[in-house]
Amino acid sequence: MSARASIASLEEAHVGAFEAGEAFARHLDSIDPLRGLAEEFLHPPGPFDGRRLYFCGHSLGLQPRRTRSILEEELEEWATLGVEGHRKARRPWFDYHLHAREGLARVVGAKPEEVVAMNGLTTNLHLLMLSFHRPSGARRRLLMEKPAFPSDTYAVKTHLRARGLDPSDLVEVSPREGEEGLRTEDLVAAIEREGEALSSVMLAGVDFLTGTRLDVEAVTRAAHRVGATAGFDLAHAAGNVPLRLHDWGADWAAWCHYKYMNSGPGAIAGAFVHERHAETNLPRFAGWWGNEPATRFRMQLIPEFHPVAGADGWQLSNPPILALAPLLASLELFDRAGMDRLRAKSRVLTGYLHWLLRERRGDEVMVVTPTDPERRGAQLSLRFPRVDARAVVMTLRSAGAVVDFREPDLIRVAPTALYNSFLDAWRLVEILGPALRGAHAVEVVGGFH
Ligand SMILES: *Cc1c(COP(=O)(O)O)cnc(C)c1O
Repeated sequence: MSARASIASLEEAHVGAFEAGEAFARHLDSIDPLRGLAEEFLHPPGPFDGRRLYFCGHSLGLQPRRTRSILEEELEEWATLGVEGHRKARRPWFDYHLHAREGLARVVGAKPEEVVAMNGLTTNLHLLMLSFHRPSGARRRLLMEKPAFPSDTYAVKTHLRARGLDPSDLVEVSPREGEEGLRTEDLVAAIEREGEALSSVMLAGVDFLTGTRLDVEAVTRAAHRVGATAGFDLAHAAGNVPLRLHDWGADWAAWCHYKYMNSGPGAIAGAFVHERHAETNLPRFAGWWGNEPATRFRMQLIPEFHPVAGADGWQLSNPPILALAPLLASLELFDRAGMDRLRAKSRVLTGYLHWLLRERRGDEVMVVTPTDPERRGAQLSLRFPRVDARAVVMTLRSAGAVVDFREPDLIRVAPTALYNSFLDAWRLVEILGPALRGAHAVEVVGGFH
């Protein structure tokens, strides 16, 4: 690593000083202190130095090389120890989830006791809504964004109905007319308007469609001012943008680990419960793994549930070791990078891709994601005024670049600081030119579906 390869030297590459040529992309890579981390991942094979250009970290992150070996270690322990692995494995299965919590706490800005890896994301939304959406008297309403990720909308609507609550107590806040992303100030105003009618808020930390980042702290403060709880879906935020859940005072959060967290398809999810709720006896759906470990195996002798303090107290089942192991492999890489350095690189990398798109494809591409780096993470959402976005995705894929399409007309592209290079970004913009022309021709003959 050259002496000049520091995050500070990357950060000095301001927008005004970017250059459009390939040599400049290579220069940025040469001063990127995190560039070596790309080699810790398996890249799908393709035409660019043997790889595809992979820009779908917002949907499914790449596989760390370490994932396979840690899974093999666990399979080996199971093969040789059988049930004794619960106590005698190198990482005993009994409290295996504890191996993830320090690393997770660093990613989301929490204390270790405030986080736990468990279940799937949507399951965790239900579990935490049960505890933190507690309508009483005139305080009945739940506020979320619209459009939200469909799973969140389905979860909230069915959750309210299943508990016998009134579905019309759901308040949905949309972006302003003519705007794509929600403004924090509009959410804060909506929360203040609801005032004492509001029981809880559940919002996405980064919007899946436009990549707009929410000011979690401002929304949390607003919710608390009116006496409501504040919970967040961090599916597109965890591992992507800086989070300080503890200091910001969020009551709860949940997220998945297969997007920016690179823990594999359908990976085990995460949950955060603020320390101020650690010892409270909030209503919850309980299971034996949420019980005090000291009495967990007294089983039928102690029929009453005694939750362990902290986020662990929301666990239901004994942890799936083969689902947790890939998370440990991934967290090692987050620790090697450090969230601060990762974010610093991400700002420059996404800023560079945005700049290149405007500089070289400005007439053909609209970037829907906010320009201000504080209001976004890695993802850029693109719209094409003149061609069918679906066809652009197909053409890019056949040229060796992986991006995705969201109905009706958006392409999502996420340069991921852990494994994407500046040259990847440059190459994407390079092949986008012919792809746009190809997409146009495709549209004329009827388009792709
Ligand atoms: C990815 C994502 C989900 C997916 O939910 P799972 O339970 O993990 O399948 C839910 N909500 C949001 C906001 C997402 O981005």
